[in-house]
Amino acid sequence: MSTSTSIAAAAREETAGFKGRLIGSEDADYDEARKVYNAMIDKRPALIARCASADDVAKTVAFARDHDLLVAVRGGGHNGAGLGTCDDGVVIDLSPLKDIDVDPQARTVRVGGGCTWGEVDRATNEHGLATPSGIISTTGVGGLTLGGGLGHLTRKCGLTIDNLLEAELVLASGERAQASADENPDLYWAIRGGGGNFGVVTSFKFRLHEVGTVIGGPTFWPVEAAAEVLSVYREFLPDAPRELNGFYANATVPPGPPFPEEIHLRKICGVVWCYVGGEEDAAKAMAPMLKRLPEPLLHGVQPMPHPALQSAFDEVYPKGDQWYWRADFVDEIPDEAAEAHARFAAEMPTMKSTMHLYPIDGAAHDVGPSDTAWGYRDATWGSVFAGVDPDPANVDEIRNWTIDYFEALHPYSAGGAYVNMMMDEGQERVRASYRDNYDRLAQTKARYDGDNFFRVNQNIEPSG
Ligand SMILES: Cc1cc2nc3c(=O)[nH]c(=O)nc-3n(C[C@H](O)[C@H](O)[C@H](O)COP(=O)(O)OP(=O)(O)OC[C@H]3O[C@@H](n4cnc5c(N)ncnc54)[C@H](O)[C@@H]3O)c2cc1C
Repeated sequence: MSTSTSIAAAAREETAGFKGRLIGSEDADYDEARKVYNAMIDKRPALIARCASADDVAKTVAFARDHDLLVAVRGGGHNGAGLGTCDDGVVIDLSPLKDIDVDPQARTVRVGGGCTWGEVDRATNEHGLATPSGIISTTGVGGLTLGGGLGHLTRKCGLTIDNLLEAELVLASGERAQASADENPDLYWAIRGGGGNFGVVTSFKFRLHEVGTVIGGPTFWPVEAAAEVLSVYREFLPDAPRELNGFYANATVPPGPPFPEEIHLRKICGVVWCYVGGEEDAAKAMAPMLKRLPEPLLHGVQPMPHPALQSAFDEVYPKGDQWYWRADFVDEIPDEAAEAHARFAAEMPTMKSTMHLYPIDGAAHDVGPSDTAWGYRDATWGSVFAGVDPDPANVDEIRNWTIDYFEALHPYSAGGAYVNMMMDEGQERVRASYRDNYDRLAQTKARYDGDNFFRVNQNIEPSG
């Protein structure tokens, strides 16, 4: 097999009973099928195996193994570094795995490995329930969960992995396995933060919480106030009740509704709030921060269904923009760091470029650093620097701003980074991000994937 056409043809011959679709470069929809969320990633897999069942996944794993082909696994395709695809190898595309089964009595939901968070949040919201997800509804359940999961409900309900009860996997051997506290507990430990290193998760089961309507939305101040806002925020949030989540952002106001015209395209700093509880309690919880700061440009906080908050930024960030990311964990924000944030916020190169600080405290701190693979339980925030623009001509500009911003702030960081918000930054950075858990992860990897079959990810090399 020397051409990608022949690999797809061989797959059709050798995977009898495959129920999904096998797409090769000869197919009319190949170019559409190979696209991922970040348009900076332009890879040409030899085969896209759109799997309709766990059995299809197992067949694809066996085929790739027989032909010694590189394998990438795609959940929602959102990964910034493009780890849901690869050149010349096989993409196991889980997008048809969309089953969602809510059990309102047991307060659990079982979801297929190809679901996006919007699909899951809408289904659970029908029962007034939710599990912690992210801040954009088109993000995949698969990648977000396996890397940890930070979002609007982190302080109240923990990371997404803190609510993962069970998973079903296809392993590198092609065998099926369950992971839970009772079955393969070493695997269960590793997939809660260790990414897609250990197998293809075809189904996840999550705990649900009573979260239907939330009090959510942004408070914006002019970007010139960034150092002041940040210095109040850093003191306020860690002591705020855990019902209140608020991620800090430097951004530009999008030029459209629901934002008032007079602030369109203004560079701002601010907080995006999510309070689980009543409106009055929410106002009371935010008041100590708001009263220490000048009148904001906008305080757009109101009751809304959880899925509405969780999809509020979807229109600003559709598939197909250029993205360049960097990230860090942060324990504290000293004055010099707040001032550096203010400097880079004033220089945001494009309307969509942004910096967020996601809280990692409250319920996320109830879990110990070695209880799951996600080691940075003592961090206070996860920072992410994202240069974003639809125009490929601006790639250098967004990349340079992101790297310069990251490098200016990195000396104030805790060391590693949230693996879901990194680019492809090398083995040392991955090791630093798992800290004391790395060696145990490497040993678990050796048990479940000793020849590193699943290596298109923030890779943990098998060892021991
Ligand atoms: C716009 C945007 C907003 C984001 N917001 C948040 C946020 O609020 N909170 C947060 O925590 N993260 C957020 N992220 C980061 C996100 O968690 C990662 O990009 C994550 O990798 C996306 O998962 P995916 O399934 O969509 O990605 P994919 O590109 O499909 O996959 C990413 C990685 O996960 C692996 N993987 C995916 N699914 C499976 C599976 N079922 N089994 C085994 N391996 C799998 C892949 O092999 C790959 O290594 C955001 C990303 C973007 C682009």
